[in-house]
Amino acid sequence: MYDSIVIGSGIAGSVIARELAERMNKKVLVLEQREHIGGNCYDEYDEHDVLVHTYGPHIFHTNKERVYEYLSRFTNWYPYSHEVVANVYGTFIPVPFNLNSLYQVYGQEEGKELEEKLIDCYGEGVRVSILELKENADPKIQQVADYVYENVFLHYTMKQWGQTPDEIDPSVMSRVPVLISRDNRYFQDRWQGMPLHGYTKMFEALLNHQNIDVKIKTKAQDIMKFEQGQVYFENKPFKGEVIYTGPVDELFQYCYGKLPYRTLKFEMEYYKEEHFQTHGVVNYTVNEEYTRITEYKWMTGQRVEGTTIMREYPASYTGEEGQIPYYAILNDTNKKLYEKYKGMLQEYGNIYALGRLAEYQYYNMDAMVEKALELADSIEQKREGV
Ligand code: FAD
Ligand code: UDP
Repeated sequence: MYDSIVIGSGIAGSVIARELAERMNKKVLVLEQREHIGGNCYDEYDEHDVLVHTYGPHIFHTNKERVYEYLSRFTNWYPYSHEVVANVYGTFIPVPFNLNSLYQVYGQEEGKELEEKLIDCYGEGVRVSILELKENADPKIQQVADYVYENVFLHYTMKQWGQTPDEIDPSVMSRVPVLISRDNRYFQDRWQGMPLHGYTKMFEALLNHQNIDVKIKTKAQDIMKFEQGQVYFENKPFKGEVIYTGPVDELFQYCYGKLPYRTLKFEMEYYKEEHFQTHGVVNYTVNEEYTRITEYKWMTGQRVEGTTIMREYPASYTGEEGQIPYYAILNDTNKKLYEKYKGMLQEYGNIYALGRLAEYQYYNMDAMVEKALELADSIEQKREGV
């Protein structure tokens, strides 16, 4: 009855399902174990009518025109430019650390001298990783690097990863650079914003197609089996493509051991005030157990009485009931372990791994949409025998 089965209705699963259904006219079944679609991008109205992101703050941003154009078919945008400040012992400085932060920390005179040095060394408007800045031989630049390392990155990263910035994968650290500019935005991408009516509405539009059936509260393994290179759906061999967006170790009962992840615990609180803080997100980079507080109203532009905030507490993922694996921990050992599972997947000619979990990667939403569109391209080409 179905040509394709998509496991997971996050952004990866929803985009590929749409493409298989619309572009290739395939009959698609989407299986989702949670009670709702949208994966970690899901948003909902809480009991105070505030639109919140249940699994942590999601801001759309991209330089990829194809991705922006594609999602714009399913949503209009609220033009939100994300700005973050770090609470450093009660003083709030822009993050990424930039020239405005520099003047705030060092004052006018010393700030000017340091600004000139940084521009001379790296050029105006450049993004420099803190790890690179730390290598600079100039003692004055060293001083800035030490300040930023200690007050922006070290403690936040210890909370988030349980490791220092030097220990984790450099690609993670370079996500948040030091910016040699006065741009206070968290992202410098050409397109950024929030789906005008929320993410869930955008997912509903994505999945709203005559060729797509969605089954929520259904774990794939409950109605499918994966045995010796053969997929079974409702006890019959299934030959169509299966797009898997969940964790690969789980699919094979952790036969080589568990892939490590970091998880998060979220704590919501409602205040009867107009605002709780000055920005959508405040990072707690030197103290507190949580990494950041998000105030959703700033991000969605919603006009509503009172405000809801969310604190994020990182922890290591143990797999206990209710925990969600949010972040792959990228290092050589874990990548090797992942490759073993990937090898098992490849024994099934018709399973494609797609998504943050299935690919064991740190993808933003836009990268995920791009990957899903590219997978659709390649399935289509295969079909046409190109
Ligand atoms: P997911 O969203 O995890 O979806 C996978 C889905 O598959 C889930 O719904 C899961 O329940 C389901 N599933 C898994 N296994 C099975 C199974 N066996 N059977 C049935 N269903 C199954 N990106 C940005 O671009 N901007 C941001 O601001 C941003 N903020 C983030 C903040 C946080 C706290 C986190 C954790 C991530 C953030 N991201 C952000 C990244 C973004 O969440 C991911 O890029 C995106 O959600 C990945 O989509 P996905 O479909 O791969 O995975
Ligand atoms: N980071 C930090 N201090 C900050 C912001 C980020 O140390 O104020 C580090 C931290 O290790 C984090 C990484 O930079 O995990 C990437 O941050 P980003 O905001 O991109 O993470 P996200 O929340 O989007 O996953």
